[in-house]
Formats: sequence, C-alpha cells, structure tokens
Amino acid sequence: MRGRFGLARVGVVVAALLVVTGSNEVTARAPTSLVPQTAEYWPDADYDPAIPSVRHVLGFEVGAEMARADQVNRYFEALATAAPQRMRIFEYGESWEGRKLIYGVISGEKNMARLEEIKRAMVKLADPRRLGPGEGAAIIQSMPAVVWLSHSVHGNEPGTTDAALLTAYHLLASRGDARVAKMLDETVVVVLPLQNPDGRERFINSNRAARGLEPDPSPLSAERDEPWPGGRMNHYVFDMNRDWFTQTQPEMRAHAGLMLEWMPVVVADIHEMGANQTFFFPPEADPLNPHLTPKQLGNVELIARNNAAWFDKVGLRYFNREIFDGFFPGYGSGWPNYQGASAMVYEQGSSRGLVARRADGSLLSFADTVKSQFIASLSAVEVVADNRARLLTDFADFRASAISEGQSEPIKAYVISEAPDADMAARLAVTLARNGIEVRRSDAAFSACGRRFEAGSYVVSAAQPTKRLIRTLLDEKTEMNADFVKRQEERVSKGLPDEIYDVTAWSMPLMFNVPVVTCRNDPVVRGELISRDWQASGVVTGGLTKVGYVVPWGNTASARFLTAALRAGLPVKSSNKQFTLAGVTYPAGSLFVDAARASEDLGARVAELARQSGARVTAVSDSWVTEGPSLGSPNMLHMPLPRVALVWDEPTERYSAGHSRFVLERQFGYPVTLIRARRISTANLDGFDVIVLPAEGGSYASTFGKRGADNLKNWVERGGVLIGLGSGTRYLAERGVELLPLKLENAAEPSNKEESSGKSASNAKPDSSDDAAEQRVAGKELTSEADLAKAERPLKAPPRPVAGILARADVEDEHWLTAGINPRLHVLVTGNDIYAPVRLNDADTVARFAAPNEVLASGVLWEENRRQLAFKPFIVSKTKGRGVVVGFTADPNFRAHMAGLNLIFLNAIFRGAAVTYDANTR
Ligand SMILES: [Zn+2]
Repeated sequence: MRGRFGLARVGVVVAALLVVTGSNEVTARAPTSLVPQTAEYWPDADYDPAIPSVRHVLGFEVGAEMARADQVNRYFEALATAAPQRMRIFEYGESWEGRKLIYGVISGEKNMARLEEIKRAMVKLADPRRLGPGEGAAIIQSMPAVVWLSHSVHGNEPGTTDAALLTAYHLLASRGDARVAKMLDETVVVVLPLQNPDGRERFINSNRAARGLEPDPSPLSAERDEPWPGGRMNHYVFDMNRDWFTQTQPEMRAHAGLMLEWMPVVVADIHEMGANQTFFFPPEADPLNPHLTPKQLGNVELIARNNAAWFDKVGLRYFNREIFDGFFPGYGSGWPNYQGASAMVYEQGSSRGLVARRADGSLLSFADTVKSQFIASLSAVEVVADNRARLLTDFADFRASAISEGQSEPIKAYVISEAPDADMAARLAVTLARNGIEVRRSDAAFSACGRRFEAGSYVVSAAQPTKRLIRTLLDEKTEMNADFVKRQEERVSKGLPDEIYDVTAWSMPLMFNVPVVTCRNDPVVRGELISRDWQASGVVTGGLTKVGYVVPWGNTASARFLTAALRAGLPVKSSNKQFTLAGVTYPAGSLFVDAARASEDLGARVAELARQSGARVTAVSDSWVTEGPSLGSPNMLHMPLPRVALVWDEPTERYSAGHSRFVLERQFGYPVTLIRARRISTANLDGFDVIVLPAEGGSYASTFGKRGADNLKNWVERGGVLIGLGSGTRYLAERGVELLPLKLENAAEPSNKEESSGKSASNAKPDSSDDAAEQRVAGKELTSEADLAKAERPLKAPPRPVAGILARADVEDEHWLTAGINPRLHVLVTGNDIYAPVRLNDADTVARFAAPNEVLASGVLWEENRRQLAFKPFIVSKTKGRGVVVGFTADPNFRAHMAGLNLIFLNAIFRGAAVTYDANTR
C-alpha cells in the first residue's frame, strides 16, 4: 500500500541522489530530481484534469519547488477560475512590503451560492443575544461548519504553504471520493495559504541565491542556513505568532478581523519545526490556559485521533503533549479558542529548503513535509464534516455559557478610565474592540463600583460571548496550574531548565499601564460601542494666540504630536519642570510651540498635527505662569530634530532591533537609520545624535572590537546619546567598554537565618596537618533537603532564567528622563540579567524594581529571583563628556506589547537629544 504514495517514491529518488553524490561522476542533474515528478499524496486519488494542477500553472510538481508569494496567489486564482462554483478567493489585507494577503473559500456549490448567508448565520450563532427562539437550532441544522486552515505565519516554514496549494487542489479536483464530497457538503473550508509573504520571500530569496548544482541537505549549507534576520518574521521582524491579541502588525490585524467575520468552529495553524522532529499535533503540553473549556479540548482530541489514524495508515510518525503549551493567548492556535473555536497547532519537521539530512542520516525532502501537512489538514476537515452539528453546537454553547458566566462570576465588568493617559486608554479600548470585544464609551460622567468616572471612560461588560478572552486579557493574573508551577520550581532548583514555552504574563492593563477597575456589578452607561477603527480625535482649545501652544506631556498622543511637529520644522520646547498656566498644571516635559518663532500659518499647522496625533493642545493667550518655569525660562529646553540610528544585523538580537524600529517608525512616525553592527568600528557616527543599541543576539564586544568601543565612547563624549536596551545594556557595562558603571549579579545566596550555624563545606578549614586529611574538607551533617540543596548549589552562578513576567518598577522624579512619566511602570522581565545597585556618585538610577513584596505584578517568578530583583536598577543614566548613556536593563519595546513604556523610551531619545544639545550649545 505504501508504494502507492508519494512518500515511498521520494525515498527511492533520494537514494538515487546519494549514489550520485557519492561517485566521481557527478553530472548536471536537475535539482528537482530530489522530489517526485508525479506526486501521489493521497490513496487512490483520481483527479479531474479540468482542474489545473500546480505543475500546470506554475511549471513544477507540487512539492518539487517552493512556490513564491506571487505564484501562490496565481495558483489560487487559477483554481478559482477553473471551479468558480466551488472556490472563490478574496483579498483580506496587505503586508508591510505591499504584498496582497489572500484567502480561498472552498465548499460545495450549494454552500458557495449562499456564502454571505452562511457568514451572517455564523456571526448570529456567535451571539445568542441576537438569536430568536429556535433560530440557533435552525442554523445548526441547516448550515455548514467553517473550518480554518492558516499557513505560514512563519516565512521560513516552507512546506506549509505548498501543502495549502495541494489541499485546495485536492478538494476541487478529487473525483469519486465520498469523503471529499462530504467535506464539501458539510463544511466551508477557508484556506489562508500564506500569512507572512514578506518573510517567505526573504527565506526563498536566500535559499535560491545559495543553491548550486543540486539541493544540499547539509544543515551547514548556505541555502539552509538563513542570513540575519531570517525569514520567520515579517518586515518589522515580528514573530506574528505572538501578536494575535495585541495586533500591532497589519497582517495579524487583518487576519483576526477576518476570523471574526467568519467565526470558524475549527482552526488549524500550520507550522514547521526543526528537521529532526517528526510531526506534532495536539493534545498540547501543560500548562493550559484556565479559560479553555473541556469541550474544546475534547474536540481537538477528536481531530488528533483522526490525524493519528491517517498517519498510521500512511506510515507517518508523530508526537504530542510534550511541547507547545496552550497557556499564552497570542498564538494562532491560541487566540481562536477564546472566540469559541477548537484550535490547534500542527508542526512538521522542516526541510528548510528542498531537502534536509537528519541527525540519523536519513533525508527529509520538501515533498515529505508537504505531504504530512496536507494529510493532517484533510483529516481535520474530515472530522469537521463528520461532526458538523456537534461542533456548531459546542461553538454556540461556548458563546452562550460565556455570557452566563459573565453574569454570575464575581467580576461583572471592567472600567477603563481616561485618566491619566487618555490616549493609552483609547489604544487599549480599540485593541479590545479588535479582539471582538464590546467596549462602550460613556457619553457622560457616571458612578460605578464605588467610584466616579468621567465621560469618555470605557466599560467592558463581562456578560458577552468573549468573556473568556476578556478575562484572559484584562485580569492582572492568569493562574497557571499549581502542580505544574511546583514541578517547575523543583526543576529549576535542581538546575534544570523550566518547561515554560513563552511568557507567563500579558495582562493588557499592566502592559499599557492603564488603570482598569473591576466591578462587582455591570454599570449601565449611555454611549456608543467603539469600532475597531475608532480613534480619539485631537483638539486645540483656546482660539487664536500670539503666544503659542502648550501640549501636556505624560501621554503618547503628545509624543506623536512632538515627532510630527519636529519633522514639520515647528519650534518646540519641553519644560524640565511642571508649571501652572491659566489655572492648569502641566507636567514636566510639556511642550510649548512658540508662535513668536513660527510662520503665520502656525495655527492651521498645529490644528492639523493635533488632529493627526490625537493630542489635546491649548492655545495660550496670556503667558503669565503662576507656578514653575515661565515659557521663556532656561528650563524650557529647545527640542532639536534628532537624527536617530539603530544598530542592525549580526550580532544584534533581531526581535529587539525590529521591535524598536517599529515602535519609533510606525507608532510614533519617526524615521530611523539602520546601521549594520559591523560598521560601528569604523563608521563616522557624527551624522547622528542618538544611537539605539538593541539587545544582543551574539556578542557586540567581538563585532565592535576595541575600535568600535572607542568609536562609540568618543562619539558620546562629543555629545551623542547612546541608549542600550536589554542585553545591549550588558555590552555598555562590559569590562573594557564601561560606558555604564553597572555590574551583573550572580545568584544571591539564600538568606535562611536558621541555617547560619553551619559554614559551607568548601569554606571550612582543614583540621589536620596530615597530607591526606588536608585534601579533605570538614565533614558536615545534612539534616534537611534544604541543607542538601545549599551544599549542592553552584557557586558564582548567574540567577535562574525567568520565562517572562511583568515586574513593577518605580521612577525617580526630577530627572530629565522621567519628565511626565507615571511614577510606577510595568516591565517585562525575561532571562536572568539582574544588576547590582549603582552608587549615587557613579550614575543616576532613574528607575528601579519595586520592593520584594511588590515587584511581581504578574506571572511565574522563582522565589529567589523575586527577592533578588527587588530594588535593583531598571534604567540607569550617566553623563559622559558632552553626551549621555542610558541603559534599560530590560527591553522596553518587547514585541511592541509594552505600550506603557513608550513614553520613557521616547524621553530617552528626544529629551536626551535636547539635554545634550542644550549642554553643548551653552
Ligand atoms: Zn512556526
């Protein structure tokens, strides 16, 4: 039976290649010899020649080559043209690099003729509040179920996309297969062949550029070893498989919006992993998010069992449960669960090119990887077809039970207050709306939950179908299974790595640093539900002015105003201290646009900038300040237009570099020059005012060398602002660089006072002069497991790494960096960089982690790390010559999720440039 399949055939061809490469008679053989010329991926498949195959349209057999982004779209168009009654394609967005994002909808003719009706029915089924009596049951009885196949969110997982081509072809071209006929009758299959076209093109370009006579299976071959940053991520180097709830990237925002239009009952997010692995499908590993329901897990297992049966039939191996947990909600296999789908991840060992040699010497061809992903996809569709009514019922129950839980659980609503940062509150509210959550903006002030809220506050009722997503995004903590956490504590205490796959905290109010009040009752407020495109509009109050305009600092809309005003060439100042004008107190950092130094049309230009940025601007008619610096004071810093560079390429940590660039360019509209790290040693840096040094992936020290360190130091001393992020700060503190007086700590010794009686064995003095005895150490009784742990504890080892928590940090006021900054920040801490406190005369510690009982805001943090992290530096700043060096010990731009740290990062850049400009021009 296996002889009828593509897999067996691939094996034969691969064996032939080994003979060829092992002999001296290597002749010019077509690279495609590694893969079957006539693939048979499915038992007894009989295909209708009227439906064009991949070979017919693209010129190669499916699995013989990696289809490029434009070829993927071309093939889908060809299929839809050949079978318009059973397939339609739609565009749902555009990538950063301008590539079309498309999806195909495949179903039987009857279903295709009523697609809009099906979509409307699914959206209705998703909200029992809109269903009339019996309407839900009628939908379940009469409508097909939508099944969603998402491919290639990671651009360097190539077989995934080609499997999508094959899946679509198979569904349309199969003849006389009752299983396929049933799939088309009972389901609507939505296929997104390529979520990340920019990453895939980057990957294929590097692979094709390095290819030679024949595909090279070596893991060291250049075609399989991607250059920085690799094809996994999108243009701005985001791992979009972490971006589902924050939706910072357009590709993800469009995908999430699309899913809410269709409301699938089953979602498969299809990936590849290392070549030595077989295939992973659920059940997923522990820990699971507590908001997943037993029915969802049961449905996923039902699909998994069918996958397993198919894999057994065709001779494919797989594993499950051991990795890929279901705790973090930002995965493509996570987020759809909170909408009520049963979602899962598929992971195939990747050939990362046309062929890979595995550790056991066997070869894995690209066609192999296409085949398993294709079979797994079809087996999922088959389960949906066979269990259509059950899956629709479970979906409807999920949405209905969410509402009733929201009505009965203690938390009935969340209120997001506009103060202190109206812009950030709006950003949070809109992000929730993009998650399909109803957010109401109140028209008038109201009292609720024992408090008074101003008009413009946002109310999120828990009694809605997305209650489980609301809880997982808005609760400060999502509880991780206690037994699992205990097991991890034990593992790390034995020096073993933990088994946590991603961050353990993502609470959006903490990440955005927006106060959110939980209510024990659901306040009824008047106001509109905000849309996913809703934007707070900026405004200028105060009429005509001859003095100028004041923009209050302390919110991100004002920061967007600043970057736009600087780029427009407006004269902007920033106050070092808070001041009171016309009865209003403006925080430190507030901006003054001086009408006396601007052209006639300043009013119109400021109004336009306020509108675009969302800033709330006041036109000043009387400059008399009643407290704090006057508008003409030397404490009003001139804001120059800084030229900002960001260190890029090896050995920079790619995500840190990409995320920081994204925050500056796309969230704050400010351009950045990318400088490749290898140029730092020799480049003339004088064209730049600010250099951002992202976290390091390799070693800056070896790439920059002494020359690079000296170049940076001299540039800072001439007036540059150098900003280190995360492990970029580690470089600034390294011996030989010493731009910051920071020292990394080793793990702290446990401070168990009851054990102070016994000296540690290795420190004890020998008690005999006898040679043999001298080589021994003093004996010691171990009376408890804690004693044993202490004796076995490594000396001078770094602290335990942490998977990712949200920590609290407190800022110093009266520093130029903290102007307008909330006194308490939330910081995402991963890894094990903990720095010793810095002496006051060595540098300014601008922000430090909170006290031991307050430092952990959310997530799983080892007890010893909690105690050691407390009070330690988060941000340190030091003046050096005419310049300044700033180090963030944790990356403030992590995934662009930490919106609450935007402003202090921007202060470092723009106020940093102003402070050094001011010092240097005096
Ligand atoms: Zn992946």
